Amino acid sequence: GIAMLEAAGIDLIEQPTPREQRAALARLAARFVVPIMADEAVCGPEDAMELARIGGADVFALKIAKSGGIFGMLRTAAVGDAAGIALYGGTMLEGSVGTIAAAHGFCTLPQLAWGTELFGPLLLKDDIVTERPEYRDFALHLPQGPGLGLALDEDKLAHYRRKQG
Ligand SMILES: [Mg+2]
Repeated sequence: GIAMLEAAGIDLIEQPTPREQRAALARLAARFVVPIMADEAVCGPEDAMELARIGGADVFALKIAKSGGIFGMLRTAAVGDAAGIALYGGTMLEGSVGTIAAAHGFCTLPQLAWGTELFGPLLLKDDIVTERPEYRDFALHLPQGPGLGLALDEDKLAHYRRKQG
């Protein structure tokens, strides 16, 4: 299948193998010119180190949820960057808080060759922040306030809170 996609001019292949089958991912990365991106296979810096060691991927998909937060994502990115592996800023369709947290982290990376697609908030009908993330001119604009630059809407938060007991 990858041979046909490559011949058709596809730009990128995302994690075509099960998470734990790193050697298979490495064989595909060696066999094809089209870049192979690790997603499920790269959840933290240790995964990144092992994939770099075996030539397991051309691109790493970074996600703050996979890596345990912004700092874990940055550590994963640093390993990829040092190994010459291109980076992509992924999403697990987080809401506004998670999306803006990821955006702040991605903004600090020296290279993000495959860009990002932080569109999670666009899928939501309502939100738990007072001012929703701003999408304009096909870009997500970072809030300028302190911290994440977001303020929780406490009434909405209470409204959507899962009922206890
Ligand atoms: Mg994926």
